Amino acid sequence: MLEIPKIALPGGETVPILGQGTWGMGEDARRAGQEADALRHGLDLGINLIDTAEMYADGRAEQITGEAIKGRREEVFLVSKVLPGNASHQGTVAACERSLKHLGTDRIDLYLLHWRGPHPLAETLAGFEELQQAGKIRHWGVSNFDMEDCRELDSLAPGKAATNQVLFNLMRRGIEYDLLPWSRERGMPVMAYSPIEQGRLLKYPALGKVAERYGATPAQVALSWLLRQPGVIAIPKAARAAHIEENLAALDIRLDRDDLALLDRTFPPPASARPLEML
Ligand code: NAP
Repeated sequence: MLEIPKIALPGGETVPILGQGTWGMGEDARRAGQEADALRHGLDLGINLIDTAEMYADGRAEQITGEAIKGRREEVFLVSKVLPGNASHQGTVAACERSLKHLGTDRIDLYLLHWRGPHPLAETLAGFEELQQAGKIRHWGVSNFDMEDCRELDSLAPGKAATNQVLFNLMRRGIEYDLLPWSRERGMPVMAYSPIEQGRLLKYPALGKVAERYGATPAQVALSWLLRQPGVIAIPKAARAAHIEENLAALDIRLDRDDLALLDRTFPPPASARPLEML
């Protein structure tokens, strides 16, 4: 079995640089079994970081995740998220308890604020702290935090956040200018969501051209481009076994200078600061 490289969270615990997303799962009850099977297939292959959220299909993606990890909780590094509207101190605690029920477990490994919302950040952090002390979450972090949010977070809880989950792929390279170097300096991995832009990246001829050189697919090139970068975890969502296997095999591709130059011409790196994009 291909060993997935690991990356350290602040504090030292390591997690795989490739995980499994779940957005879109749980939307249709007829597909639930297949979706849980797909997550289990990923676990069988060693892709043991799973990202979900209370938002996804109103908790049903968490339930499918719970189904997938039944009997194998110890293998999994489980990530879930609180909705901003719920993220008051007590609201965060209550949301986490609902998520734990959906997931059928007594702890979430990494609990994220999904994006900035109406509640002061200090309140959400108080909720995270309470949950951590109770052993209901092991680490906490944020998502969709731009530079200004990151600085505020760092002033409230320096070095405490385990990750910032953000939109990052070849079409969305803004974070390379500031947020990614800033996170690297602090030893905080960035978790790249929508790593193949929900499939929209796959139509670009440049990806096809690079893929041909390796007998690979455009999706694998898009993932390889992310996975080669220090300080980055990628969490593609795949409900099909073939996609999961393909995504894992992306770790074997070593893009060279010519490949990277071609990709840079099609998807230029940022030359100045850009507001963080969200999906
Ligand atoms: P994505 O992973 O970029 O794309 C998912 C789509 O790509 C699915 O339709 C999947 O098809 C397809 N796919 C997967 N592997 C493929 C392959 N090898 N070849 C061709 N198609 C492939 O998009 P995403 O789901 O938006 O992002 C990934 C995860 O990030 C989410 O599931 C979620 O956990 C997280 N996320 C977080 C936020 C946030 O605000 N924090 C926002 C968006 C996403 P099948 O399912 O049919 O296999």
